[in-house]
Amino acid sequence: MRPVLLLMYHQIVPEGAPPGWVPAPLADSRYGVGERDFVRQMAHLSEEGYPLLSLDSLLDPETLEEKGEPGRPAIVVTFDDGYESDFKLASPVLSKFGIPATFFVSTGHIGAPGMMTESMVAELSARPIFRIGAHGESHRFLSELSGEECEGELVRSLSRVRELTGQKSVAMSAPGGRTDSRVAALARGAGFLALATSRPGLHEDSGDLFSLPRLPVLGRHSLGSFAALLDPASVAHRADRWLRRAKQGLRALLSGTTPKNGG
Ligand SMILES: [Zn+2]
Repeated sequence: MRPVLLLMYHQIVPEGAPPGWVPAPLADSRYGVGERDFVRQMAHLSEEGYPLLSLDSLLDPETLEEKGEPGRPAIVVTFDDGYESDFKLASPVLSKFGIPATFFVSTGHIGAPGMMTESMVAELSARPIFRIGAHGESHRFLSELSGEECEGELVRSLSRVRELTGQKSVAMSAPGGRTDSRVAALARGAGFLALATSRPGLHEDSGDLFSLPRLPVLGRHSLGSFAALLDPASVAHRADRWLRRAKQGLRALLSGTTPKNGG
């Protein structure tokens, strides 16, 4: 099977916006990708001939068969949170290049200033290349909630997405990327198709659909560093670094000291 690289976008920053601009209180300015940079990145994916897949196609091993140039990952484009900019600025670019994407929407924030409205969510879902996913209801970090609270976030956001879009199959992405085996089991039990995380890495043959790795695309990425991000060797390096940090954090936690890098 061809390895799959899932890219994680958040808000798209309009041309002329001041530095540090965010569309809504939920947003972190580091995750804002400039409008022009986004166009260049999508043009790069398209011109370089990367296989561009929908998240749903991860369920179908045939679409993942290695065809064409070997060694190159297939790309799945995703957006977290549900910003209005993703509808207004990203979706026309994706449509132009025919690039499939999944928009993970925090359902409790739909219609808030800077966020997508109900009709934007429905309109995206109606286009064949786009899918709406859930991103919890309140955007609270699921791994920090009680089982009951976590299940409530999952079930309510899933039914809201189904109600607004009519989609039967809905994927979930964990707010803040915070997930663990308990969250994964609850997401599976709630009826989700898959669970996307912020753990860096490539999705491969043996990969668990309820622990899908993703790489964040940040505002500081130039076209050169975006292109480098897609190199499987760089993905493996990021995954190693992440694992080392997680282990350091765990060791520090167990020994009662505070990790320097936040773990
Ligand atoms: Zn989020």
